[in-house]
Amino acid sequence: MTSPDATPALHALTFVLVGAIMLQAMVRLWLLSRQVRHVQQNRNAVPAGFADRVGLADHQKAADYSTAKARLEFGAVVLEAAVLLSWTLLGGLDALNTLLRGLIHDPAPSLASGLTYQVALLLGIMLISGLIDLPMDLMRHFGVEQRFGFNRMSLRDYARDAVKGTVLTLLLMAPLLALVVWLMGQAGPSWWIWAFVALAGFQLLMMIVFPTWIAPWFNRFTPLEDAALAERVKALMQRCGFSARDLLVMDGSRRSAHANAYFTGLGRSKRVVFFDTLLKTLTPDEVEAVLAHELGHFRHRHILQRLVLMMATLLAGLAVLGAASQWGPFYTALGVQPNLIAPNDGLALALFMLTVPTALFLLSPVAAWWSRHQEFQADAYAAGQAQPTALASALVKLYTDNAATLTPDPWYVRFHYSHPPAVQRLVALDSAARTAG
Ligand SMILES: [Zn+2]
Repeated sequence: MTSPDATPALHALTFVLVGAIMLQAMVRLWLLSRQVRHVQQNRNAVPAGFADRVGLADHQKAADYSTAKARLEFGAVVLEAAVLLSWTLLGGLDALNTLLRGLIHDPAPSLASGLTYQVALLLGIMLISGLIDLPMDLMRHFGVEQRFGFNRMSLRDYARDAVKGTVLTLLLMAPLLALVVWLMGQAGPSWWIWAFVALAGFQLLMMIVFPTWIAPWFNRFTPLEDAALAERVKALMQRCGFSARDLLVMDGSRRSAHANAYFTGLGRSKRVVFFDTLLKTLTPDEVEAVLAHELGHFRHRHILQRLVLMMATLLAGLAVLGAASQWGPFYTALGVQPNLIAPNDGLALALFMLTVPTALFLLSPVAAWWSRHQEFQADAYAAGQAQPTALASALVKLYTDNAATLTPDPWYVRFHYSHPPAVQRLVALDSAARTAG
């Protein structure tokens, strides 16, 4: 598939790939070093205006926790870049492909053998990537999270989660990948539109299936027992024009001391889920304000907007893949020899899965900015529907309990923060409280 004229294109593509991997890793390392420096420089003083709300000991714990997380992330960034280069230019994917093609693909190729080999290749990459990430993930849970008192899991719990997660992924992904690979082979040049329909349909199905069928496999959900709180929550939802079928409490404390609340589901199957850790820390006023924030996301249609953006990105990505998969240098420039007697769709999809995160990193400041903008909108909505002072005190408690730093580096925030830093949210809420009161 490689002709002599393809050589300049090949070199250019290889250059772009290596350049993108290196640039991404360097930017991430630069951001991490900025974050560590900034947090440490501000370690010995609680920011002005917060001295009465956050103690110095809590502020310093947050600084040390942020620093420890960032230091571990240095290793993760370097490892990820090395792994991606190993899969592509250093021949990892090519070796796995040759091995599996020899094992599974019979000499007189049939549709079934072709599908099995291609799905095995894709699942093989996912399993190997998971194994490579495992030590880093163990260090996250049993190193940093453990040291700062957040981890509640034993190694046994961790192993059980890992096995369940892997089984679930295999059960869900094997048929989905088989369908996509089959479409790539059978649906002609416009396969990517059909693949988009399949993937988007799967995504929507998961939004319905996940809260009711899958989440209970990992956590226990019980009805909210506090009748007074349930009344308040229902009154708030009525005021905001919402209904939820269930008010549930999730045993988040089983795994972690971090607290949260969310609103999930589609149509009539909507449900509000409170982490038990959240109910333990917050007063009823504060719980109401946190829920009002979540309702704000719904009122402003943020969930729908995020879904549409995700779908548009998926469609654009598949369109690019639709063109690239027909082009020989796409494979060779990324370190893989295309198959001569077996289909190349699985390989194309594999290269796509491996390289997409690098491409998307470029968009992360825009995505993060947009998300922070939505958080401000949800806070403003909550300030109108509940007490702004209650949301402010809830945020202070949550940021303190989660040891989130009050003094992140501004550039780190631009790339990585989906929520505005606490200080900015509280300034906005304080001014909302003054206008209201
Ligand atoms: Zn939010």
